[in-house]
Amino acid sequence: MFDQLFIDNEFVAPAAGRRFDAIDPATEQRIATLALADAGDVDRAVRSAHRAFAAWRRTTPAERTRLLLKAAALVEARRDEIARLETLDMGKPLRESLANVARAVRSFEYAAGATDKLEGQSIPVDARSFNFTHLEPVGVTAHITPWNYPFANACRSLPVALAAGCTAVVKPASETCLTTLLLGDVLREAGFPPGVVNIVTGSGTEAGAALARHPLVRAITFTGSVGTGQRIAQYASEHVRPVVLELGGKNPQLVYADADLDLALRETVRGAFTNAGQVCTGVSRVLVERPAYTRYVEALRERVEALTVAPGLDDADLGPLVSEAHRRTVAGHVSAARDEGARLVAGGSVPPDRGRGWFFRPTVFDQVDPAMRIAREEVFGPLLVVIPFDGDEEALAIANGVEFGLAAGIFTRDLGRAMRLVRDLEAGMVWVNEWFQSPVQVPHGGVKHSGIGREQGLAAFANYLQTKDVAIRFG
Ligand code: NAP
Repeated sequence: MFDQLFIDNEFVAPAAGRRFDAIDPATEQRIATLALADAGDVDRAVRSAHRAFAAWRRTTPAERTRLLLKAAALVEARRDEIARLETLDMGKPLRESLANVARAVRSFEYAAGATDKLEGQSIPVDARSFNFTHLEPVGVTAHITPWNYPFANACRSLPVALAAGCTAVVKPASETCLTTLLLGDVLREAGFPPGVVNIVTGSGTEAGAALARHPLVRAITFTGSVGTGQRIAQYASEHVRPVVLELGGKNPQLVYADADLDLALRETVRGAFTNAGQVCTGVSRVLVERPAYTRYVEALRERVEALTVAPGLDDADLGPLVSEAHRRTVAGHVSAARDEGARLVAGGSVPPDRGRGWFFRPTVFDQVDPAMRIAREEVFGPLLVVIPFDGDEEALAIANGVEFGLAAGIFTRDLGRAMRLVRDLEAGMVWVNEWFQSPVQVPHGGVKHSGIGREQGLAAFANYLQTKDVAIRFG
């Protein structure tokens, strides 16, 4: 299954027979061989989705609900298998993979419940006409996903598109294809007709670009880096199609001296080092009010030094990074931070007891100036910077002073202050006295370079529906 593409409900070989390897980041061993699709393979997948759309769009909401609920039940039944595969392929601790699978189940259930609630409007015009809107599925949709939450991300947009009556082609990140391919098997077993979902593996610049530029694709949902997102937006413009861009972040956590500091610390550590920091919404900058600063940094050092780093199957606090190249990138940021004069508080290197695998110790820098690269650029790894501030104005200037605007958090007991900051923070999601509050029913997305549009929640259905206005004259 893993060395093939999923087209028309069949696992099929790529036409040119090209392959590439899937590597376990904890052992550096090959765990599977994958199909490397070319533009012709992508065309086959898109045409399959295009053919399937004619009948799929006419299925009743009840039929789509039943299939989506069946898919949810099958994902749940294969929970352990999927989670183990995700951990082997991506490196994350097993309990996190299990939580990601549980989230995917919720995504299918949520979308299943919405199929018969996608309502249009009637609009008063005059006494002799009836005017109403009808929401229609856009057609074939493309879903291009990153490597940090392979299964959960594929299951974030796909169920919504299917519930809306669209068909789909999914292109997972090259580092982490296995669980997305397994999803093909699950959806076929659930009873989705041939062509409704297709999955192509291959390089972003070849297969991904061919998918995003295909004229029969009517909407694109992309999750990944800013640079690729900008290219996707250009491709989308070639055929005037809507695009959802879920991009990076440099998310600030504002910690005030009056906050429950123990809670704030717990959330800093969880926010910064879940999935070894490879999280778009992770805490990457913690801004601490000056009276609490020294205490906070010291307590943070103690907690971070106690974190364990080991293969994901051992379920330590942090697994390996996804690839050797990515570990080099993270190490480069550490060197740059040192060169710029930041002070290393914890970590900063490969763990000495780990010979194989792309591990990196959880790392904290303080004495960080907001102008430093380490305070502005997304690292997407286990690296956290601590910055002191005095008062709301300075906190806001630092928090908003980057190109990103994905998530932000405020820790304080002063509700009035929290609400003023909620109003003024430039972010798509703001959390007060907690981190990572983004269940499937709430909109997820960013402002500025963090993206365009929203996934999750009812807002996401707009990505896959278009409005047709109908006017009927009867008088
Ligand atoms: P990436 O390099 O941009 O890749 C994302 C996806 O795009 C992969 O499937 C990739 O395929 C594909 N791709 C690359 N070049 C392409 C092209 N020219 N045309 C079409 N597709 C192309 O991002 P990543 O390194 O996988 O993911 C990390 C980034 O994702 C971080 O910036 C992170 O913040 C962001 N992210 C955002 C969210 C969110 O919800 N906002 C969630 C998760 C991650 P290949 O793998 O084959 O290159």
